[in-house]
Amino acid sequence: RALERNELTLVYQPIVDLRSLEMRGVEALLRWSQPDGLVIPPRDFIRVAEETGLVHRLSQLAVRQAFDDLAGWWREFGHGPWLAVNISGAQFREPRFVPELQAMLEQAGLRPDQVHLEITEDVLIENLARNRAVLDQLDEIGLKLVVDDFGVGYSSMAYIKNFPVSTIKIDQGFVRDLEIDRDDQAITRTICNLSSALRLDTVAEGIEHPAQLEALRSYGCPLGQGYLFLEASGPDAIREILAGHPPWLERAAVAVQ
Ligand code: C2E
Ligand code: MG
Ligand code: MG
Repeated sequence: RALERNELTLVYQPIVDLRSLEMRGVEALLRWSQPDGLVIPPRDFIRVAEETGLVHRLSQLAVRQAFDDLAGWWREFGHGPWLAVNISGAQFREPRFVPELQAMLEQAGLRPDQVHLEITEDVLIENLARNRAVLDQLDEIGLKLVVDDFGVGYSSMAYIKNFPVSTIKIDQGFVRDLEIDRDDQAITRTICNLSSALRLDTVAEGIEHPAQLEALRSYGCPLGQGYLFLEASGPDAIREILAGHPPWLERAAVAVQ
């Protein structure tokens, strides 16, 4: 029904350089906006879409829309962020996944390095032999691979070492109590050190307070996203930022002093 009625929309959350506070990327996140104004979060409907076999159609729609938005921003401003899209297990298992993705990139006129694919640890681990082949194809095309929600799944060092992964995304569960929880501080600092020693990029999720930003900067975490900067918002909010008006400078500058 959501597909028929065009009720699925995309919102974008900036991924910010924690030192310069400049936007580097955006993550596309799906929303189901019902006519009565109710917005259903993706965790509630993506699982259903996977179970009913609709997830591929739904994801194609999301990726195509996100590619169009991204291409539009680059055309309009001559520069722009990279785009991170979330890929579910069902998409990853779909044989048409890689060729369709490549076709959509070409249709939108995007370079592969403008797009990052976020995959959770359990999806990576699910079927090592098959996934390895898919990851290698994606890497060959030039798409960046991001391990999403790092630290709450298997946190396997072997796949980080052996798979063509470019970025680790620290799960927001470790960032939430970063101001007060010594264990979270130790875990987050260690993930940042590990990631940079392996020459990977690191993104921290769920930054809500200046103190969290301050801690992450002191650990050398290069990138982050969260409500401190901007909650996931419509494409016009991203255009505003590209036009030179990031809304977070005052809120986040406290920590930069
Ligand atoms: P995720 O990829 O880990 O996305 C991060 C989630 O954290 C998003 O929730 C985002 O809105 C939320 N978030 C961002 N900043 C903050 C913050 O400062 N504090 C807190 N508490 N939360 C923050 P959202 O949009 O509800 O998405 C939930 C999950 O649904 C995503 O987790 C992703 O796994 C999945 N998802 C979203 N869009 C898509 C999609 O297009 N395709 C697929 N396959 N999965 C998607
Ligand atoms: Mg994600
Ligand atoms: Mg995540």
